[in-house]
Amino acid sequence: MYHLSDRIKSMSTSQTLAMAAKTRELKAEGKDIIGLSLGEPDFNTPDFIKEAAIQAINDNYNSYTPVDGYVELKDAIINKFKRDNGLTYDRSQIVVSTGAKQSLANVAMVMLNPGDEVILPCPYWVSYAEIVKLAEGVPVEVPTSVESDFKMTPQQLEAAITPKTRMLWYSSPSNPSGMVYSKEELRALADVLVKHPDIIVVSDEIYEHINFVGEHASMAQFDDMYDRVVTVNGVSKAFAMTGWRIGYIGAPAEIARACNKMQGQITSGANCIAQRAVITALEAPVNKIQYMIDRFKSRRKLIIDLMSQIPGFAITEPEGAFYVFPDVSYFFGKTINGYEIKDATDFSMFLLEKALVATVTGDAFGSPNCIRFSYAASETEIEEAMKRIKNALSE
Ligand code: PMP
Ligand code: GLU
Repeated sequence: MYHLSDRIKSMSTSQTLAMAAKTRELKAEGKDIIGLSLGEPDFNTPDFIKEAAIQAINDNYNSYTPVDGYVELKDAIINKFKRDNGLTYDRSQIVVSTGAKQSLANVAMVMLNPGDEVILPCPYWVSYAEIVKLAEGVPVEVPTSVESDFKMTPQQLEAAITPKTRMLWYSSPSNPSGMVYSKEELRALADVLVKHPDIIVVSDEIYEHINFVGEHASMAQFDDMYDRVVTVNGVSKAFAMTGWRIGYIGAPAEIARACNKMQGQITSGANCIAQRAVITALEAPVNKIQYMIDRFKSRRKLIIDLMSQIPGFAITEPEGAFYVFPDVSYFFGKTINGYEIKDATDFSMFLLEKALVATVTGDAFGSPNCIRFSYAASETEIEEAMKRIKNALSE
């Protein structure tokens, strides 16, 4: 028995990654599992980006990189923020990291003291609460539900604020609910926040391009909020580059400097080849990735149409990202096919074992009545998965 730290002992495993690992394991055993658990585009990285990476290798990009990113990449990020979000940042405000996950961890580590509270509208992305706790912060969950379209109201935000509140973290488009805050809804939340000038907002916009309802809205667009917002983004989702591990922030310079210092002691600058490839990705017009967004849109329709035919699934139509997050509490307390379903985790395991479909329990996202489906999968897989679930439930 080794003496592992209290820090790691009290941390939960990432449920998304755990389910992905379990799916791989079962597949290796020969089980025909349909994996709808992991939030990862099933496309290949576009060729024009791969070519830039090959070029970077041939050009001998192989040394340590500047901790906060190559200047050329920072400039591409600055231009992207301007072009897509109307946000003005300079080089001192940008930090490139090994994925948006590291960007988020940096921010938590540099902003939180023990006991500082971070408001997390539920459902939140799986790693938010654990990252906050790792930094000795206290997650304060604000529940939302299918009935409220998974949106936190200004009244709920106001009620959650205490003298210890340091930050609000949210993603829009949301992982896991697919909810998208409109500009007006963000403004209404901002109206609450302007009364509490010490609260910093972490706006996770990694799904910004996967939005089916309209314009993407950034919290930092409001002049009275700009100095208090850390805008988090990355290339994993829109460019199908999950394994390349590049994320970034646009932030007040003081916060960016602190993240740079933190990263300099923990990981150094992000991978050289990936950074060069991302310059090309971000400089390309957004229409180069439209074919993937169009496919997500048609798959969203497909999965919603099929899921609506399954009794007991209460669905809010997702507006962005590539997830559906049905409320499945109808099944709690029932025994189906000899399988006792007490909660969403049991239901998710039931689907894995009896329908051979991998999902993620809503517990992981702070919403214990729901489960998450990722529809970043082929049309055939989606159709087959819904058929299997329907059959498993009707037995
Ligand atoms: N934020 C959200 C909302 C996500 O879904 C993800 C998923 N990977 C991340 C951040 C982290 O992305 P990455 O580290 O791959 O850039
Ligand atoms: N963000 C993805 C998901 O939610 C990838 C897994 C992860 O990084 O946790 O499934």
